[in-house]
Amino acid sequence: MSLLTSSSAPHPRWHRLTVRAVSHPVPGSAEITLDVPDGLAADFLRYDAGQYLTLRAVVDGQRVAQSYSITVPPHEARAAGALTVAASEVPGGRMSPWLVHGVATGESLEVLPPMGDFRCDRVDGPGGRHVAVAGGSGITPVLAVVGHVLHADPDAHVRVVLSHRGPDTALGLEALRRRGEEHPGRLEVVPVWSRAAPQGERVMGRLDAAALADLAADDADDWWLCGPDGLVRGTRDWLLTRGADADHVHTEVFFSDEPM
Ligand SMILES: Cc1cc2nc3c(=O)[nH]c(=O)nc-3n(C[C@H](O)[C@H](O)[C@H](O)COP(=O)(O)OP(=O)(O)OC[C@H]3O[C@@H](n4cnc5c(N)ncnc54)[C@H](O)[C@@H]3O)c2cc1C
Repeated sequence: MSLLTSSSAPHPRWHRLTVRAVSHPVPGSAEITLDVPDGLAADFLRYDAGQYLTLRAVVDGQRVAQSYSITVPPHEARAAGALTVAASEVPGGRMSPWLVHGVATGESLEVLPPMGDFRCDRVDGPGGRHVAVAGGSGITPVLAVVGHVLHADPDAHVRVVLSHRGPDTALGLEALRRRGEEHPGRLEVVPVWSRAAPQGERVMGRLDAAALADLAADDADDWWLCGPDGLVRGTRDWLLTRGADADHVHTEVFFSDEPM
């Protein structure tokens, strides 16, 4: 390895950030807001919507590090001097049950600065059309992207197709509703219930090509797909066969739900 290569790619450093607030937007979830002191603003608050933080902790005597996407757009994080992530509990998991039940205001967590290639680093406009398809906790980076796009392009329109088990545990749904109220007529949210639906709505099962054709058939300038591997890969394949430009189909896989 040349000296130039090693010095031009600095290794990200762990920092300790203090938990400013913890809330539980739906059962089995936690929203955690971390204070970013002025001295770390350059490391933590210059990020693109869609990126994630890596959190590290010792849980039950075992050191574990996992990724959690930032849910707030950069302009709001900078105004607040804080970053927010949201975790859904994966029963039996090493870190998420501790994040959801064990983290309290005032404690400090080890965190790496934002990273990741699922990023909204350019908003073309005016009047950009964006469609997001998210499964379960895959809504988290989409929340930041939606907030950023609606802020950066005052004529943008965003549709979010959110696949979830049922309304009681649908992380991000309430945050999307609030965001929609800030930007009347510009954010459309289409929930898809896989196991339990509110009265008057139907259970649709997993999102497949037929459902996508119904719910997300509009042409979009940019597509934002996030969640389990099967949903992300299936949606991307479907879009590419319909002629979508691969450079404008942004994907983030949270975990593999396909047999290996
Ligand atoms: C880039 C990136 C961003 C992420 N952002 C978020 C986020 O914002 N919020 C969030 O809640 N999670 C997010 N995740 C998932 C998160 O990093 C962890 O994988 C998840 O919290 C499980 O960690 P754990 O230590 O509890 O479970 P582990 O002990 O690592 O895993 C237990 C098992 O559960 C599976 N698994 C992992 N995630 C899920 C899931 N969501 N649902 C069902 N099974 C799962 C794993 O494949 C494994 O088999 C993200 C993942 C990536 C790669």
